Amino acid sequence: MATGTLTIDLDALQANWRALDAMTATETAAVVKADGYGLGSGRVAKALADAGARQFFVAVTEEAAALRAALGPAPIINVFSGHMDGDTQMIADLNLIPMLNSPEQIARHQAALPGHHYGLQIDSGMNRLGIEAYDWSPEMAEGATLVMSHLACADEPDHPANEAQLKAFLSMTAGLRIPRSLAATGGTLLGAEYHFDLTRPGIGLYGGLPFKAAQPVVTVDLPIIQIRTLQPGESAGYGCAFVAEKETKIATLSAGYADGLIRAMSGKATLWAGDVPCPLAGRVSMDLLTVDVTELEEVPKTLQILGPHQTVDQLAAIAGTIGYEILTSLGPRYKRVTK
Ligand SMILES: *Cc1c(COP(=O)(O)O)cnc(C)c1O
Repeated sequence: MATGTLTIDLDALQANWRALDAMTATETAAVVKADGYGLGSGRVAKALADAGARQFFVAVTEEAAALRAALGPAPIINVFSGHMDGDTQMIADLNLIPMLNSPEQIARHQAALPGHHYGLQIDSGMNRLGIEAYDWSPEMAEGATLVMSHLACADEPDHPANEAQLKAFLSMTAGLRIPRSLAATGGTLLGAEYHFDLTRPGIGLYGGLPFKAAQPVVTVDLPIIQIRTLQPGESAGYGCAFVAEKETKIATLSAGYADGLIRAMSGKATLWAGDVPCPLAGRVSMDLLTVDVTELEEVPKTLQILGPHQTVDQLAAIAGTIGYEILTSLGPRYKRVTK
């Protein structure tokens, strides 16, 4: 078997949900869009339901089928993108709650599924998704299960947009007796005034920033397919980007940019053999990495790219991106195991 192994620590995942839940006096949902941030939404959601989560969020209705199958009928599944053309059957069959984002979506929902529950997403200043202030009247919320909005800068606690959005959300929802939700992971960390009735953490559950105290959830180990010794002046990989200055032992690993180990990591990321760092040598290929293992006395069967020595956010920083993108790019080729 030449695929990498992605190990998901379900205890750490549950501990992260409990830790975020303990920071608030209100209900804590779980965001499991993008296949549970790349880890497998069914298994992730089931573990979070066991920890106590009763509400889940996905981005699009199509993501809800696997989730409903894993969770059974009771948990609430909300859909951020609302009620799109073609969604009606799935919303009804899977018993989903669309977060309606515009007067058009409200009209579509009322016409297609009168009496079926729904939530509303309003725009408090991010200008991405949600009903605009000029289209909004609080009466629209009559009968809704939830009124929610999303913060643009919650990972920067001092950013003035946080308070501005909080004020806008408060004024748009003043007097409503319907559950409200504003905070994702970042908003949860901003403090009680951002919590309202329901928080919606995603990345923090999976061990990512801005939840600094999160336990790491993901480990990725990559098998070594072949080892060779380069003489000084010989090169490895595309573009001859790595050139050996001395006799160098190169291990070829089975994973590449098609597995989310993006090309921007070329020549920068480190792999680990236990506690020994082994630098990536040259460019990342689609399915392969070449790694300098000269320092190892004995070369193991696998090297680690995500784990205690290199977290999701550290690897992201090396590649000039964020942990969210690393996790959701990992792709289907890994053998996903839980511990
Ligand atoms: C993705 C998303 C979340 C979860 O955000 P995290 O930063 O991962 O905690 C919550 N709400 C909305 C609307 C989202 O799009």
